[in-house]
Order: sequence, then C-alpha cells, then structure tokens
Amino acid sequence: MLHQCTITNLLHISGIGLHTGSIINMVLRPAKAGTGIIFERKEGNITQRIKACAQNVVDTRMATVIGDGQLRVSTIEHLMAALVACHIDNLIIQIDGPEVPIMDGSAAPFIDKILSVGVTRLEQSRKIISITKPIHLQEGDKRISIIPSRFLRISFDLDFNHPCIKRQSRSFKVSQQGFRQDIAAARTFGFYEEVEYLKSQGLAKGGSLDNAVVIGTDRILNPEGLRYADEFVRHKILDTVGDFSLLGHSILGHIKSHKGGHDINHKMVEKILASPDSWRYIEFSKSEVQAGLSIPVLQPEVAMAKA
Ligand SMILES: [Zn+2]
Repeated sequence: MLHQCTITNLLHISGIGLHTGSIINMVLRPAKAGTGIIFERKEGNITQRIKACAQNVVDTRMATVIGDGQLRVSTIEHLMAALVACHIDNLIIQIDGPEVPIMDGSAAPFIDKILSVGVTRLEQSRKIISITKPIHLQEGDKRISIIPSRFLRISFDLDFNHPCIKRQSRSFKVSQQGFRQDIAAARTFGFYEEVEYLKSQGLAKGGSLDNAVVIGTDRILNPEGLRYADEFVRHKILDTVGDFSLLGHSILGHIKSHKGGHDINHKMVEKILASPDSWRYIEFSKSEVQAGLSIPVLQPEVAMAKA
C-alpha cells in the first residue's frame, strides 16, 4: 500500500485492562494524513495527547508503555500490530484508562473490529524506511539485527527451559493476509507462578485464562489448550511487529531476533533512528501513487476492506 490510510468510521472498543482489572473504553477516530497514531488520554480534568513513537516510550519491562507528562498508556503493542496489519497510518485513539484493553491477549479482535468499520485510503503517499546496511544489537543472551530486504520479514527464535515451550523458531514475511492467518490470533503468555506473584503485588489484576496462555510446571492450564503448536514464537513476532511500528514508518528489512522482547525491540528502534547512514526513505510522488505503483511488501490487500 503506497497510500496512507485511516479508518472509515468511528470505532468503539471496550475491554478489561490486564493490570488494572477494570473496564477501559477506547474511541478510535479517523485522522488526516500525516497525523500518525495518537493516543488521547483523559483523566479528570487532564487530557494528554501522546504520539505512538519511540521518543515517547517510558517503560518496556512487562509491556510497551508510552507517556508524556503525567499520563501513560500501557500495553499498546497488540493494538499497534493490528494497525500495521490493517495499514492504518493515521488515527486518534481516545482512551479513558492507563492501558489498552487486553481483549483475548492477541491482536485478532482489534483487526476484526477495524475491518468491520473499513479502511480508507488517503491521497498522500507513505514514507517507508528501507534498510541499506545491517544493524546489530546484543544484550546478554539476547540478540537482534536488521538487514536489507525487499520485504518486511521477521525471524524469531526463543528458547525457554520449560517442557511446554523449549526452542521455537519461525520466519514470517509480514503481509496483511499472512498476519491475519498466521500471527494475529497468537496470545500473550505467562508462567503460573509469575502470574500469581504479580497478583500478590497488586498487578495483573485482570489476568485470566481468557486473555493469556498460562503455563504450569508441566502443562498449559487453559482448558482449550494452544491455538497453534508454536503459539509462543508467533506471539513474539506479533509483539515485534507492534514494537517496530514505533519507528513511525513502514519498514523494509529483515529483523532477526534471538530471545528478544519489548526492551531490546525498543533499543533497536532507537538505534535505527540514530543510524541514518544505514537506511533511506522511500517516498512516491502523487502521480506514482495514483498510478498504483506497488512494491512487494505493500500489496494492496487493504482492498479487502471497504476502501
Ligand atoms: Zn504481547
């Protein structure tokens, strides 16, 4: 998709917050080209606009959290991944609580709701970051790199010393159709002891088997089991798509992650932004956009939605 896009109609989404355990309401509003993704957080008399971008990331320990001034919005990554999958570049998200609803722990409910109101192409073209030289980052046993590629591809491997996970690897070429089929429904996961500890600390109050895969000592505790045999690595790819969207532009490159998470994803996004000699912008002229020129990563799959 060469055009910038937004949603066609207003969209209401409500659901429980993973950490607060209370109901959070969001109103997603269409926005004009060049707006980006803006969260508008209200609390009492204060209204704070927080752009979803790397500069506003304030915490990456358990989720990706953005903030500006006194107000924060936590756990934005699954919604951000859904916006990437639906090609949404511009949006105002009014939110009445400190975290995005967790829904079922995946990005699929967000995608279904966005496609139900439709995606509108705007006249202006997108600006794309194309990686031209490899960039690497290592922290302890975690490694991440991005190398030039004609597509956005994510290769992830994770390695947990646990009988339910062990080693899982997957390489995925990101497209709207592929993301919806193979990645979007993969849920977040946690270990039973960790979840119980967080609850004892007054955190993860909304966490349940309805919004996460919970792993016991030797089995998955969710009665329905897993959605995919390798649901864990698929969810890590989902998180990576969401976290890299904070670059603020679509990206052409192959991200290779070994045991990565929100923290190293954010550091890599910052490193990319600080390494302008390792990438270039691609931007198409209005006539090229009108002529419908396409590059491989941006197939016009948005036509499936109401264009
Ligand atoms: Zn996640």
